[in-house]
Amino acid sequence: MSEIKHNWTKEDILAIYNKPLMDLLFDAATIHRKHHDPNTVQVSTLLSIKTGGCPEDCGYCPQAARYHTDIEGNDLMTVQHVKAQALRAKSSGSSRVCMGAAWRNVKDGEEFDQVLEMVRTINKLDMEVCCTLGMITENQAHRLAEAGLYAYNHNLDSSEEYYKEVISTRGYEDRLETIDNVRKTNVTVCSGGIIGMGEKPEDRAGMLVALATLNPQPESVPINALVAVEGTPLEDQKPVSIWDMVRMVATTRIVMPETQVRLSAGRTEMSREGQAMCFFAGANSIFAGDKLLTTPNPDVSEDMEMFKLLGLNPQKPFIKKMQPETVEATDSKYQALGEKPKWTRPDHKIDRNEEAKQKAKVLK
Ligand code: SF4
Repeated sequence: MSEIKHNWTKEDILAIYNKPLMDLLFDAATIHRKHHDPNTVQVSTLLSIKTGGCPEDCGYCPQAARYHTDIEGNDLMTVQHVKAQALRAKSSGSSRVCMGAAWRNVKDGEEFDQVLEMVRTINKLDMEVCCTLGMITENQAHRLAEAGLYAYNHNLDSSEEYYKEVISTRGYEDRLETIDNVRKTNVTVCSGGIIGMGEKPEDRAGMLVALATLNPQPESVPINALVAVEGTPLEDQKPVSIWDMVRMVATTRIVMPETQVRLSAGRTEMSREGQAMCFFAGANSIFAGDKLLTTPNPDVSEDMEMFKLLGLNPQKPFIKKMQPETVEATDSKYQALGEKPKWTRPDHKIDRNEEAKQKAKVLK
């Protein structure tokens, strides 16, 4: 029987988050060592396969078309380009490629077929493949699984309450439904969030309740520190303190002992000492490469130097779960259904999102 606890409450989690730091670190490191090799860290490469022009209004995101930021948009990459990038990532120590497309949700058609081909291609390179493409239906999840997808990323971002302060174009329940659709396949779930968006510790705990009470818990939880980008509604947010990051990582480790906890955006702001403390507290995955979708990230060689300094080893692929088999498009059991799911569109007004949109109209 699994000893994983699923009935976490916000109070339980806040009590952990607010412990004296030395106690919190000790508890998290003890749990971490029981469930994982503390000197192994999984390295993922994030590839933006379709950048910018997104119709959503996520307050932290420079890819939202409605805000004025200086990112360069691009159409969907070719399969050959993605393959070349994946090979580069593999040769520099990455075991996973995560492909992100700035879409609200997946639509059946040529572009999705192209993404399925990318999944097949990378799985055949013996690398774990992850996608983050927005909301997906059960049939789309099955098609991704058949192509050989290892993980699907769909972040909850924050607590359900604070989510409404950041995004107005879709609902929290759609996030949970997408995760549920992924769970109907063999694809693993990657879901986490962002700290430093102006939320309270209660919201951080609320997000962890939403994730830790899922059964099974997500196999992977990215913890991002907001990178405040000029032109976005959250441009004026102060950088997250390393102490908040360490507390969040340690708490995530304690409430989700078997999960890979990923240090994601915001690592450029963290010292090596800070990152080492996060690894000690239970972080065992990072994103490598000089860009995280559109925001800066440490260079791979700097990360490898850090690994050497700390005696860390990159995790080999398919250690936690067997490599999925790839079914070719011609042999597929699942066809495009051309579904038009009614994903929620709450469209409540968020003042800072409205202001950023108005400002963008003047600047464009
Ligand atoms: S976070 Fe994703 S969904 Fe939200 S605006 Fe950015 S690309 Fe679009």
